[in-house]
Amino acid sequence: MKAWENLAIFGGKPTFEKPLHVGYPNIGNRAALFERINDILDRRWLTNMGPYSQEFEQRISDMLGVKHCIAMCNGTVALEIAIRALGLTGEVIVPSMTFIATVHALQWQEVTPIFCDIAPGEFHLDPEKVEAMITPRTTGIIGVHLWGRPCHVEALTRIAQNRGLKLLFDAAHAFGCSHNGHMIGNFGNAEVFSFHATKCINTFEGGAIVTNDDELAEKIRLMTNFGFGGTDKVIYIGTNGKMNEVSAAMGITSLEDFETFIELNRSNYQTYVRELTGIRGLRPVMYDEQERNNYHYVVLELDEAVTGVSRDQLVDILRTENVLARRYFYPGCHNMEPYRSYFPLSQLWLPETERMAKRVLVLPTGAAVTTESIKLIGQIIRMVVSSGREIRDRLKQPVPALQPRVVQDQNHELSAELEIVPR
Ligand SMILES: *Cc1c(COP(=O)(O)O)cnc(C)c1O
Repeated sequence: MKAWENLAIFGGKPTFEKPLHVGYPNIGNRAALFERINDILDRRWLTNMGPYSQEFEQRISDMLGVKHCIAMCNGTVALEIAIRALGLTGEVIVPSMTFIATVHALQWQEVTPIFCDIAPGEFHLDPEKVEAMITPRTTGIIGVHLWGRPCHVEALTRIAQNRGLKLLFDAAHAFGCSHNGHMIGNFGNAEVFSFHATKCINTFEGGAIVTNDDELAEKIRLMTNFGFGGTDKVIYIGTNGKMNEVSAAMGITSLEDFETFIELNRSNYQTYVRELTGIRGLRPVMYDEQERNNYHYVVLELDEAVTGVSRDQLVDILRTENVLARRYFYPGCHNMEPYRSYFPLSQLWLPETERMAKRVLVLPTGAAVTTESIKLIGQIIRMVVSSGREIRDRLKQPVPALQPRVVQDQNHELSAELEIVPR
């Protein structure tokens, strides 16, 4: 019997008893959090720009060196408000290689997302292709700092300036990261963070818009609180995007432990890189060590032609071992509804997105994993790839001993998903 025949997908015992998740929530000092929550309850100031949300905003501004930070109830509403405050209408150029919220935030307001391809071998908007997609209806560009790696900030800035377009960045993954020595948050007209439970800093649910533009910041503040410019005085159209005090308390507490979160992420990332470097057909996606990084996403690119097994097969194998790797962001927003129906031919102009969405997987990190478990994950991956063709052929045969199980996973899919596990 070969070692790989003991893989859980073929009926063996899973390597891990408990599932290891991508985006396992970071939790800071509980005592400090509870103290703040008690304080909130005593004061009975639960939301509406209370002292904790003000402090959270101030801490972020100081940390990033950005003039304004407006904390919000989540990253998606922050994107929607930023889009509206910037006056984006008509068409806006976005990558398809992103989380669906980037695109929904436009369509929700009846702004048409125009999907643009990523640069070959990369994960970010290709500036040349962006330029080619500008029409008289284009009003802006949204760049995404995918997995905390900055997109082509300078090139996009130049295009936006030359063509009179607004430039917004979805920095949901990039809190605490820098680009050319400047903190993310200072680029474009504005940048948006998410503090969702799965992000590096979390406020349960939350987000923020940061900007150095005074007038824009003022507009965003009004929009976030129904357009109230004073008691009984509404001076602008608005919605309710406010962050509540308990979320802000969680955010402040998390910020106090941010360096610890990053250190753990960094150590995990380095262990993964050590374990996975040199395996043919696999490429761990690296962070630029000259910059500040949050090391929150461990990304692996797989070349099926070399490994024999496909990315999807490797993900299935890992998941049956209880390593809940993810295929971010498969299949690409353009292949999801309603965009798939709106742009049925979009695959034709997004070849690099199509290609990359089939090649990458994201591995569990953060407090979910230990160095020991990363070494075990590395061993599984090495074994699978070294017998890739045999395993692929074996997987073509029916695997009768599999049954579905419901897995709790808060990574944006509703709340649970079906997964195949050995009986
Ligand atoms: C998480 C995320 C968002 C949405 O943030 P929420 O706080 O979950 O609303 C937007 N864009 C990207 C790229 C994200 O990963």
